[in-house]
Amino acid sequence: MKRVLLLSTATGYQTRSFGEAARALGVELVFGLDRCRGLEDPWGDQSLVVRYYDDDASVEAIVSAAAEGPIAGVVALGDRPTVLAARAAESLGLRFHPPEAARISRNKLESRRRLSAAGLPVPSFRSVEATADPAAVAADVRFPCVVKPLVLSGSRGVMRANDPDEFARAFVRLRHILAAPDVRTLKDPAHGQILIEDYIPGAEFALEGVMDGGDLQTLAIFEKPDPLTGPFFEETIYVTPPRIPAEACQRIAGGVAAAAAALGLRHGPIHAECRVNAGGVFVLEVAARPIGGLCARALRFSRDGGAAIAFEELLLRCAVGERVAGWAREACASGVMMIPIPRAGVFRSVDGVDEARAVEGVGEVLVTAVPDQHLVLLPEGASYLGFIFARAGSSDEVIVALRAAHAALRFRIDRELPIAGGYFCFGGV
Ligand code: ADP
Repeated sequence: MKRVLLLSTATGYQTRSFGEAARALGVELVFGLDRCRGLEDPWGDQSLVVRYYDDDASVEAIVSAAAEGPIAGVVALGDRPTVLAARAAESLGLRFHPPEAARISRNKLESRRRLSAAGLPVPSFRSVEATADPAAVAADVRFPCVVKPLVLSGSRGVMRANDPDEFARAFVRLRHILAAPDVRTLKDPAHGQILIEDYIPGAEFALEGVMDGGDLQTLAIFEKPDPLTGPFFEETIYVTPPRIPAEACQRIAGGVAAAAAALGLRHGPIHAECRVNAGGVFVLEVAARPIGGLCARALRFSRDGGAAIAFEELLLRCAVGERVAGWAREACASGVMMIPIPRAGVFRSVDGVDEARAVEGVGEVLVTAVPDQHLVLLPEGASYLGFIFARAGSSDEVIVALRAAHAALRFRIDRELPIAGGYFCFGGV
């Protein structure tokens, strides 16, 4: 049985989806997780312990594991594992993105530099030390602008500012986010800098694809129908196919292919985000990994009229060397809503899930927030309450179904009152 290494930061719904796909395909998964070394395999999944801030030691651990039983492919889930995945693949002689390309694509500043050097549309950008005086920096900033961290994800810390005052507030806010304990433990020097770039107006799309020897194979283009105009950029609905002409899709695919080539991405899944306006296709990022969270469940593929398979299975096939050419997304429209957090507080419960599931077209409603979880809004936080999936004849119908299901959900979130040394929560708010 072929073994595939799945590198992730945690186990959860997403790794479980891969578990199901692996069973369907008949491959064995080896999990690489950055969990506490002191714990003796508490999940009973015999996972490898890796450290995303210590690639050398982690590659060594992976190579030793491969000596015991060969590893035929690598999949990175989420942004942090991408560089280690690329280094492990290189050491194991597997086709994947080059480590340098994975490293550059994780860093928004280095990506901008590469795209700009390749002559591709990019907003004007600069980076400054997080300790800089925002009032002094603002003197040279064109508005509206966007300030962002170099290597966080999920729109965390990304803020639009329309004038020098907003800029100063956003800058200081981002500085605090970069100083938060969970960011500091990432031990990444890139968190000492802040990226400032022009705000790009336009519609936003995401492209899911696979690089094959440097050529992009587009698997799906998602439209993001909710306006993302700031000041924060919370993702909600992704729907495919996008409601735009075929030529516009080709321009997006062409823009992403050029960006992926400029970043040096060669082989394996990519997930790109772009904004499109009269100035062209502005690729915001190309990540050396598939779409994150549970959104992969919005995609299913079939070949030669055969039964549809989950995207996770296609990714595993790709990891073990199968070509994705010939596989096409199912004919229906499909979409996912990342359920936004309506307000900060302590999540207690949700009602209306059955009503939401009963909405025509809705497939799954998954609430991933757990009772007593502290909900933190953007830009400090970066999570969702869960996911709603829908399929229908058209993207319009998918959007209607997702919104109707969302409207049926009633979340109980208790207000959290700061008190000296902690928080005080009370119910019924
Ligand atoms: P992350 O990797 O955390 O998702 P991104 O750089 O992709 O960070 O930004 C998150 C979102 O913020 C984008 O999807 C987009 O909606 C918005 N955004 C980021 N940069 C710009 C920009 N220069 N102009 C307009 N919107 C932007």
